[in-house]
Amino acid sequence: MRNKKTEKIFVEVKVPIRSCVVCRGKAPKEELKKIPTDKQGGKGAYVHKGCIDAIKTKKVLHKIYKSNISDEIYDKIIEELRFD
Ligand SMILES: [Zn+2]
Repeated sequence: MRNKKTEKIFVEVKVPIRSCVVCRGKAPKEELKKIPTDKQGGKGAYVHKGCIDAIKTKKVLHKIYKSNISDEIYDKIIEELRFD
């Protein structure tokens, strides 16, 4: 037996879920930071606040931008994400 009322509430509180590019964990969009992705065709890449530092160590941006990213650019993006 389905509970219509519960179902309706669930739909109303539904929030967009995105995956973190570092740990692949899913979280509501508001809990993640958006990585600047002008080269990615507007698809959007998200990262947990706690995963920001791992962007560099895991070289996540290489995959996103499909090109070599210098340490300077990593540092710049990490800084932007931290203070945004
Ligand atoms: Zn994460």
